Amino acid sequence: AAAPAALDDPPKIRVVVRKRPSSKKERERGDEDVVDVVAKVNTVVVNEEKVKVDLTKYCERHAFKFDEALDESVSNEAVYQLTVGPLVRTLFRSGRASCFAYGQTGSGKTYTMSPLPIRASADIFTFMAQPQHRDIRLCVSCFEIYGNKVFDLLNQRKKLNILEDGKKKVCVVGLKEFEVEVVEGVKALIEEAGKQRSTGSTAANSDSSRSHSIMQFALKRFPAAPVPGVVVRRGEEPPEPKLVGKISFIDLAGSERGADTFDNNRQTRLEGAEINKSLLALKECIRALDSDARHVPFRGSKLTAVLRDSFVGDQARTVMIANISPCSSSVEHTLNTLRYADRVK
Ligand code: ADP
Ligand code: MG
Repeated sequence: AAAPAALDDPPKIRVVVRKRPSSKKERERGDEDVVDVVAKVNTVVVNEEKVKVDLTKYCERHAFKFDEALDESVSNEAVYQLTVGPLVRTLFRSGRASCFAYGQTGSGKTYTMSPLPIRASADIFTFMAQPQHRDIRLCVSCFEIYGNKVFDLLNQRKKLNILEDGKKKVCVVGLKEFEVEVVEGVKALIEEAGKQRSTGSTAANSDSSRSHSIMQFALKRFPAAPVPGVVVRRGEEPPEPKLVGKISFIDLAGSERGADTFDNNRQTRLEGAEINKSLLALKECIRALDSDARHVPFRGSKLTAVLRDSFVGDQARTVMIANISPCSSSVEHTLNTLRYADRVK
């Protein structure tokens, strides 16, 4: 039977909010849960406590509606089914996809993002086992954008350059790519990238909350192996593999870091400015997807420049997962995250 239309052609943009549970430490210090998720209507309500001039307290309610609003009981598997899952089949018919985790540091971005490529690879391998996909292979790469620089997370944090060719195709030069055949292989690469992300030695104050980490899956069609008995002429290059589909998993820098532009430390200030610029450029690029905008501001930041080919064309799909903390102490950051996500949808 044919798949339902909605499943077969996922929307261009999908915005999902995920609230994490409070930690033991937060409960112990009496940090109240001020976020209500009304799943039935995909709405998030934030109860902000405010104080009047006469010092009496009152509560201001902020409600936001999204494509999905997920509370702390929702599993990673359910998150996958609601976000990346429906995009996998599109990758086998020239699809381009990107999935972002947005939110303040500690809101659950890495918790949400790190299982997604692993889970997606399981589905990808199932598709690859079908006879019509036999010549397709999965190639994995992973890099980090830190400040204005790009580092290979699967090659000792080697610094990489970005080049744009005549066809406006942006390329990360020398990025290492690994062909992977089993789910365990993807898992191992994610672990390796995670280690290289946090133990960065290039910058003294390297800190994963200040970097965007990007894992990319490229599905490539390799030309059929030479038929035995057919003479391959000497000097004849084997044909290049063709890119079929591509998906990027992006664990963004902590959204609060974009406000570090007032920090006393110059380096921190510069990094904050770059993060702020990239998150704004990202928002503008996603918004442009849904309009007839002629101009999409890819060049606004390294992040958007590198992801350009995931944004252009009818085949491009974007999922934004906005992660939020339940805590009263985080209410300002939570509102900022929800406002950002609200602008994207
Ligand atoms: P971020 O990457 O945004 O800084 P993390 O993903 O590291 O945040 O999450 C912060 C902490 O909260 C971690 O200890 C993580 O295990 C926990 N956490 C986040 N989301 C969830 C969730 N949905 N369920 C259970 N624990 C979570
Ligand atoms: Mg993280």
